[in-house]
Amino acid sequence: MALREYRCAKCGATFERIIRNARDERKVACPECGEHRVRRLISRFATAGVSSDSQEASNCACGGSCACGRH
Ligand SMILES: [Zn+2]
Repeated sequence: MALREYRCAKCGATFERIIRNARDERKVACPECGEHRVRRLISRFATAGVSSDSQEASNCACGGSCACGRH
């Protein structure tokens, strides 16, 4: 489950949706005009996570054989 931020391709409204699975994401529509062409924005949380992730990767001692997804 994730809180995701979207911007409508038609009217430009931004809104958040809680996404539990792929089906939820396909149903996302603009609350202002009902448009389904929405663009997912990079959340503040994800942006903050990028720098810590790369830092962790450089410090990872698993040798690339783990399931951490960073190799
Ligand atoms: Zn819209």
